[in-house]
Amino acid sequence: MKILVLNAGSSSIKYQLILLPEKTIIAQGLVERIGEKEGVIHYETDSVEFEEKVFIGDHKKGLERVATLLLDSKIGVIHEADEINAVGHRVVHGGHKLVSTTLITDEVKGIIRTLFNLAPLHNPPNLIGIEVAEKVFPKASQVAVFDTAFHQSIPEVAHRYAIPNEFYEKEHIRVYGFHGTSHQFVSKKALVLLNNPKARIISIHLGNGCSMTAIREGKSVDHSLGFGPVNGLIMGTRSGDVDPSVIFYMEQNLGYSSEEVSTIFQKRSGMLGLTGSNDLRDIERAALSGDRMAQLALEMNVYRIKKFIGSFAAILNGIDAIVFTAGIGENSVLIRQMVCQDLTFLGLDLDLEKNQKQIKGTRFIESNSSKVKILVIPTNEELEIAEQTYTLLKTKV
Ligand code: ADP
Repeated sequence: MKILVLNAGSSSIKYQLILLPEKTIIAQGLVERIGEKEGVIHYETDSVEFEEKVFIGDHKKGLERVATLLLDSKIGVIHEADEINAVGHRVVHGGHKLVSTTLITDEVKGIIRTLFNLAPLHNPPNLIGIEVAEKVFPKASQVAVFDTAFHQSIPEVAHRYAIPNEFYEKEHIRVYGFHGTSHQFVSKKALVLLNNPKARIISIHLGNGCSMTAIREGKSVDHSLGFGPVNGLIMGTRSGDVDPSVIFYMEQNLGYSSEEVSTIFQKRSGMLGLTGSNDLRDIERAALSGDRMAQLALEMNVYRIKKFIGSFAAILNGIDAIVFTAGIGENSVLIRQMVCQDLTFLGLDLDLEKNQKQIKGTRFIESNSSKVKILVIPTNEELEIAEQTYTLLKTKV
């Protein structure tokens, strides 16, 4: 089955054409700067890789161009659009109604639309991606895979907030959780590598967005993000945990509107707010050259991760493995070292040499005497989406 995976953002579309069940990537790339003066289309197959700079008016134009490239007689990989059996869409928020991977119908699109307010940066472009794909690939099955779905297993004791019941019962205000496709992908892989389906795992996804999940027997049982993607860990531009009193104070005493406060917490906070940069590589360089604020920001970031390791270890009654993933988790030797320092009470002991080796791919980095395994597993949300799409369609045939 040839499955095209789409991750549509506000001005970009990431795509991968994957052959299942073989898991072979046939083509992949990115359409960027949709609607701007000069857009960029990146296209890569086994035999070619190039970037094209051209005006891309909207998402439909972008996806049509991708289809043209895929069908090109010289550099294409398919002969007709109908060869694509399915399109698997990343949809960030499924709310309380869309709780697992699903075939897209008008009703499903309607529900995704009702969730625009809960994921204003993600659900609207996700829906545009769906509507465009329906037009460009009319014969393909359209499937939605939700970031929130993996966290549906979080029990009530952990997914409820202690606010009046009516907000839960009528408004469905609760922990939803995010990055579910990534946490699911790496934890599945970890369970196989550990050869223990019951392993207690903490997966640590550190990218621009950051989150941690407590996993028991392959299921998410607690998570650091909540109703929206702002709390928990300190992120690139998002604050992570802050006492809500700060929000009341900013609005009631400092005169900020709720919209301004939302922008401050989501776009101007986190590592950016502390250091002026949201790129961890810049911050590590600045810290090494003695910049005190960069050093403090790294320490705060790691301190928060450790607090979550401690609380998730308590919830899981011990841990068998921790998994680092995403841009920072996969690449930052320093952050992994700082996180694993002084956690020997949990039986966790990092091998500094293994940690420093600049290898790509899945690897164990704990010492021989460590009771807890420490893994680095590159995430692959696209492959997870393709696999879930394949599994859904196979069972429907
Ligand atoms: P997104 O959440 O947008 O998918 P990524 O998973 O690509 O983000 O992660 C982006 C983050 O990874 C950035 O903060 C970047 O600085 C960091 N990063 C990438 N490579 C390295 C590296 N070699 N060392 C430290 N940080 C890195």
